[in-house]
Amino acid sequence: MEAFYTLQGEGFHQGRAAYFIRLGGCDVGCVWCDVKESWDAEKHPLLTLDKIVADAAAFPGRLAVVTGGEPLMHNLDELTAALHDAGFQTNIETSGSSPLSGSWDWICLSPKKFKFPLPEILPVANELKVVIFNKSDFEWAEKYAALVSPECKLYLQPEWDKSAQNTPLIIDYIKENPKWELSLQIHKYINVP
Ligand code: SF4
Repeated sequence: MEAFYTLQGEGFHQGRAAYFIRLGGCDVGCVWCDVKESWDAEKHPLLTLDKIVADAAAFPGRLAVVTGGEPLMHNLDELTAALHDAGFQTNIETSGSSPLSGSWDWICLSPKKFKFPLPEILPVANELKVVIFNKSDFEWAEKYAALVSPECKLYLQPEWDKSAQNTPLIIDYIKENPKWELSLQIHKYINVP
């Protein structure tokens, strides 16, 4: 769908220069999705692996973040192999609702109530990032925190349009439950893609 060089705005790698590869196609259907234009993969052009990797390698950073849409709707074995061959660290942002493929240096699992993660991704997630839209999402977050590995980093992130009302709730929650950390979409605060 699009690719761009920017700073990772969220989660464990927040603040690092990263080349984002946003793949078209998503069947999850989050009501608050901020990239609904990604949902229909057929609306976006097909590119060769060589083109995707060459475009990424034109920039000095060697962190590639594959996102979507729901990137796991595609088999990502060849893309991640090509990125590794070109010297990239491969990170993915996924709801985990489609079968896991690809070779990843970092898996950010962001489970969605609209299509649950498959069990296979839970033990291999490096980071669990739960978007807080309603108060009930704290319970949803705890459900998944109990299912990921003990080493998995845990983040709560306010849904952008509700951040003014939900960020204070998240701060209070983290103070009571310090295994969690706050993730803010800093790219939206600093006005980068
Ligand atoms: Fe949007 Fe991501 Fe939800 Fe798909 S999984 S609907 S791209 S927020």
